[in-house]
Amino acid sequence: MVRYYCPYCNPKYQFQKKSSKGNFICGLCGEDLVKKPFIRLNQIIALVAASSLLLPLIYTFIFLIKNQLNPPNKNYQANSRLMIVIKDKLFKLN
Ligand SMILES: [Zn+2]
Repeated sequence: MVRYYCPYCNPKYQFQKKSSKGNFICGLCGEDLVKKPFIRLNQIIALVAASSLLLPLIYTFIFLIKNQLNPPNKNYQANSRLMIVIKDKLFKLN
């Protein structure tokens, strides 16, 4: 179903009227009504722009929460016992 609207009047107070020619006109100002498309191009562009900003943010948040719940097992810090062994070997060489 195609909806009509007047681009000049407040959408709250608009009502349709049929002109003598048979096309719809605005009941308030008498201007020709404009067809209202189901999805406007502006809405699609706005949706893409908003998602391009929000999706990386959501992605990083999910990763942060996931890493805090079960932190990665790999320990990149040097093992303390291994450090002692290395120190002993170094002192023996000297
Ligand atoms: Zn109007």
